[in-house]
Amino acid sequence: MADVRLSQIRKTFGGHQVIKGIDLDIKSGEFIVFVGPSGCGKSTLLRLIAGLEEISDGTLDIGGMRANEVPPDARGIAMVFQSYALYPHMTVRDNMAFGLKLAKIPKAERDAKVNKAAAMLQLTDYLDRLPKQLSGGQRQRVAIGRAITRDPDVFLFDEPLSNLDAALRVATRIEITNLKDAMPGTTMIYVTHDQTEAMTLADRIVVLNAGQIEQVGSPMELYHRPANVFVAQFIGSPA
Ligand code: ADP
Ligand code: MG
Repeated sequence: MADVRLSQIRKTFGGHQVIKGIDLDIKSGEFIVFVGPSGCGKSTLLRLIAGLEEISDGTLDIGGMRANEVPPDARGIAMVFQSYALYPHMTVRDNMAFGLKLAKIPKAERDAKVNKAAAMLQLTDYLDRLPKQLSGGQRQRVAIGRAITRDPDVFLFDEPLSNLDAALRVATRIEITNLKDAMPGTTMIYVTHDQTEAMTLADRIVVLNAGQIEQVGSPMELYHRPANVFVAQFIGSPA
């Protein structure tokens, strides 16, 4: 369980400010979706929360702890990327257990966690395969499963479906909806540029534009009461 609180977060790359003072309170267990055009700062914001980039200014609190005082690997965060980043020479089981092994979790416990995650994602029959023997959607489910085995308090997704074809994207989106129900205490922050994903997954959508928030609200609030033309165009025109 972890609230995530961003206060006046800024990020500058080489003198160019790409995140321009973001304030956002995310409740434990909420499913938040960041949307916005390419280059608006969605990935950077996720990477700041994950601790993969250093914050230039402002404060980030995760589970009541000032994040810059907590090393990234102790923040209780797991992240799933657009590219699956699986080890090609390892089986699905070993890929999913890898982080647990590094953390010196005993084998019996590793097996139990991997089996549970595999069952949640319908990967039980694929545990002994190599990544190259899987479809893109299955590979992404392995990457999600690997993240689940870490029991994260905060689960970050950066456009996890954008490398999949349309049919697989729908199927994997349904898996993520199931995941949301199966992990009710886990805070989920999900980046996409796909309105359908945002509308179907989000408790609240954060519309970003050029490093700033245009509007935050439930899918229905944004759809029916967009704050401005930018939000209306982004949310209003279904993909
Ligand atoms: P999005 O994920 O919304 O497409 P990004 O967060 O990747 O956007 O990028 C936001 C802006 O920050 C872009 O202008 C991008 O070029 C810039 N940027 C991102 N990462 C770096 C970096 N490591 N060095 C310099 N500029 C970066
Ligand atoms: Mg991005």
